[in-house]
Amino acid sequence: MSSMQNIQADLEQLIACPACDALYRAALPENGERAVCPRCHTVLIAPVDGAVIRVVAFAVAILILLVSAMFMPFLSIEAGGLSHSTSIADAALSFSEYHMLGLSIGVVALIIFVPIARAILVIFALFPLMLDKKPWRGARTAFRLSEELRPWSMAEIFVLGVGVALVKVAAMAHVELGMAFWLFVALVLVTVFQDGFLCRWSIWSALEQGDRQNG
Ligand SMILES: [Zn+2]
Repeated sequence: MSSMQNIQADLEQLIACPACDALYRAALPENGERAVCPRCHTVLIAPVDGAVIRVVAFAVAILILLVSAMFMPFLSIEAGGLSHSTSIADAALSFSEYHMLGLSIGVVALIIFVPIARAILVIFALFPLMLDKKPWRGARTAFRLSEELRPWSMAEIFVLGVGVALVKVAAMAHVELGMAFWLFVALVLVTVFQDGFLCRWSIWSALEQGDRQNG
């Protein structure tokens, strides 16, 4: 191995603490054990047995939840004897009636399409790993993209916003939450669990190992 390759290998083994930026030489801990930053006690690496299966399973669940939530009634409002129930697709389309097509596309993108894209990217990147196979070509790009899209996935902000709006409207009209709202609540919980199982360092090192076998 030349010295250049040595440096390359050394760099790949370095891990920076996300909290205090201290650099460490990373080593994969045994399953169930965790690597912790000695300076600030932030967990650096926490591989869990079967984590990849769980992350993929959660991504599939997110996909199903989002697609069903799009067309189910989100909420129904009853005021003065008139009742109106609406789905997210309806709500988005209603913006377009007021010449706000851009806004409606933006809203649907942030609460539906970005989370759907992230779920598909995660499944694409990790599905072969789950079966102990080599990752598909582009798996690393897919996983990186899914990580970059994370701040743009706004389902939880949407649920919060709807909650706040409902408190205000509740005085004027009778509002009933539909199935889609509860699907979104489930979605937020599943996303939190998925994040808990996602040890990014372990996934990156697994993807890199697979790539080396590929090339
Ligand atoms: Zn630290």
